[in-house]
Amino acid sequence: MGKNEVRKLVITIDGPAGAGKSTVARIVANKMGLPYLDTGAIYRAVTLKLIEDGITPDETERITAALENISVSLSGGKVSVNGRDVTAEIRRPAIDAAVSSFSALRPVRDALIGFQREQASEGIVADGRDMGTVVFPDADLKIFLTAEAEERARRRYKERVERGETADYEEILRYVNERDLYDMNREIAPLRPALGCVILDSTKMTIEEVTDVIVSLARELGAGKES
Ligand code: C5P
Repeated sequence: MGKNEVRKLVITIDGPAGAGKSTVARIVANKMGLPYLDTGAIYRAVTLKLIEDGITPDETERITAALENISVSLSGGKVSVNGRDVTAEIRRPAIDAAVSSFSALRPVRDALIGFQREQASEGIVADGRDMGTVVFPDADLKIFLTAEAEERARRRYKERVERGETADYEEILRYVNERDLYDMNREIAPLRPALGCVILDSTKMTIEEVTDVIVSLARELGAGKES
């Protein structure tokens, strides 16, 4: 199948922290000739800027005002805030610890929803927490990718070590669990499987197996879709 035939598909991949969403989404996007959108990176970038401005999650008015002056851009795998490359900084433990509190807030979510939708004009593979439930409820294919918490923490630990960073497995496991609990129980756009999604548990699957399943589901759809 030619890449153009599936160009406008919208594929969402939601799930808890460390389930492999971004790795899988990037590969699927590549194979399908679609752009990739890492929405966690957007929430992380906004969190970084708010922290730098000395703002805490309870300061709603300051957050609303600050958001007017925050501009996030994603290009070639790099994430920038107001023109500054923050790709590495947004992966730090301090951001892991704070991102869920800021992401739960109405002004933050409202400020980002339009930007995320704009990225999908040529089709998209988007990963996050509310892609299938809120941002792209009419997506062609919705995946909920999950894995056991210990396995997810182990993967995050390995990523950090491979990047040459210091990492503490127990701390990562704690953050993973805390973040999931927070993301699942928040009032706005909670993490949960979207209506009509395919649930994939990747605990015992390789990245290749997961991507193969998603690509073959997408190709079945793409074959019947006009571009
Ligand atoms: O995907 P990642 O782990 O980078 O996401 C970081 C955090 O950003 C999540 O734990 C969640 O609180 C928030 N997030 C969100 N909605 C999304 C993507 C991420 O609330 N669509």
